[in-house]
Amino acid sequence: MLLFMNFTIPLEVSRVTETLETAGFEAFLVGGCVRDLIRGAKPKDWDVTTNATPEEILSLFPHTFYENSFGTVGVVSDETEDPTLKTIEVTPYRIESEYSDSRRPDTVTFSQNLTDDLKRRDFTINALAYSVSQGHLVDEFKGQEDIASGILRTVGEPSDRLTEDALRIMRAVRFHVELGFTLSRETEEAILKHGHLLEKISKERIRDEFSKILMSQQPMNGLLILKKLSLLQYIVPELEKTIGVEQNRAHSYDVWEHLLRSLQTAADKNWPLDIRLTALFHDISKPETRRWGKEQNTWTFYGHEVVGSRVTRKILNDLKYPNKLIDKVVTMVRWHMFFSDTEQISLSAVRRMIVNVGRDNIWDLMNVRICDRIGTGRPKEDPYRLRKYHAMIDEALRDPITVGMLKIDGKRLIEVTRGTPGPKIGYALHALLEEVLEDPTKNTTEYLENRSIELYNMNESELKKLGEQGKQIKEEVDLKEISQIRKDHRVK
Ligand code: ATP
Ligand code: MG
Repeated sequence: MLLFMNFTIPLEVSRVTETLETAGFEAFLVGGCVRDLIRGAKPKDWDVTTNATPEEILSLFPHTFYENSFGTVGVVSDETEDPTLKTIEVTPYRIESEYSDSRRPDTVTFSQNLTDDLKRRDFTINALAYSVSQGHLVDEFKGQEDIASGILRTVGEPSDRLTEDALRIMRAVRFHVELGFTLSRETEEAILKHGHLLEKISKERIRDEFSKILMSQQPMNGLLILKKLSLLQYIVPELEKTIGVEQNRAHSYDVWEHLLRSLQTAADKNWPLDIRLTALFHDISKPETRRWGKEQNTWTFYGHEVVGSRVTRKILNDLKYPNKLIDKVVTMVRWHMFFSDTEQISLSAVRRMIVNVGRDNIWDLMNVRICDRIGTGRPKEDPYRLRKYHAMIDEALRDPITVGMLKIDGKRLIEVTRGTPGPKIGYALHALLEEVLEDPTKNTTEYLENRSIELYNMNESELKKLGEQGKQIKEEVDLKEISQIRKDHRVK
């Protein structure tokens, strides 16, 4: 394997290693960024390792902050827009001595020796270091070879390394799906043996790796591996109950496979975490709500979305997801059945649904429905019906044309005209509306107040005529907007 490589390194990064070296320290890129450079992928972040102490690092860079108790210092670059370059993490060479609880090292010792630092890293593919100034790779554990053959292998004995910090079990699965690498046989065996140690890992750390698995291109594969390695029980035990639960004729798959295929559809479409979580959990309570329907002569799942929304809240709470995300996913699970009803959906039903799920979530709910449907293995959605739903949502969301749009209301109109409540006020408002529809720049308080006085001083029958004309135009504009929406969506 080559030890001299000419990678293109962003200026923000080489400035950091150069500053350290000019001051007489060693400095190497290390971990995921080196792995990704070798793979020809864009690094997600840049980590630097050095024999300088945290205090020495802090003194070399004006724009720094102390990140954590492991001595990591964040070096901030203000000029760049690239989020992966905003903070570059610089960490002293470290030795991790004792792990008594499968979680975190008991003590962190700094070292003067790069090899010590590489030895503590999880997988060989993550244990490479690169010197920017020398264009030189340090590869003490055959990391390049494993990258080339796509193998995940722990640095050192798998059982030791996975029991030291059991999060590495999750990381192994995560790298397996993110990179498409296979687990070495020994690593897989060690995972099977020590999977239960995940019980000791904080939910937050598990959640972060779980989210990365979901956000990969192959989350279905990730869930299948978690099942195969008997790890689901430590992450989302509720999912295990869906395995092998047979459904009715509309479904080609059991509940488990349906959920996985729905999730995979969300990934294929590059949709965000909230949709992926909803796709994965939307039918989570089908097992406990399943009843044999004598009349239907098949399985029924009445209320599964109601029970499922509660179960989803519990799952996401346990994993310590942020509340805002939880609320959104739970809401979408609760209402996911809406668009799957085959009978005609009315505009007023769509309006009510928007009240239930919220204006901001309605389009995401439509996307959940797409995941659900494709995940069922049913033929592609009738494109006309899909467009029809879109048109109805647009129509329900749009603000109707009313006198409420005016920068004056009835009360103010009475004040400025010193008028009395009665039909004249309504006529005047509609007359104003007509003018504003004609010329929107007239919708200012000043213009409308002055114009109200003129209108109110007209005789009643003349004003009535103007008002009725205004009402008619309002209705025409309203209809025109609706028919434009339908035209845009190519539906009747
Ligand atoms: P990504 O591309 O997602 O950032 P990464 O490999 O850089 O992946 P990070 O979590 O950023 O992963 O960690 C940076 C490096 O720190 C890893 O490449 C690895 O060398 C080391 N590392 C991180 N977590 C652990 C751990 N739990 N045990 C041992 N080494 C770890
Ligand atoms: Mg990284």
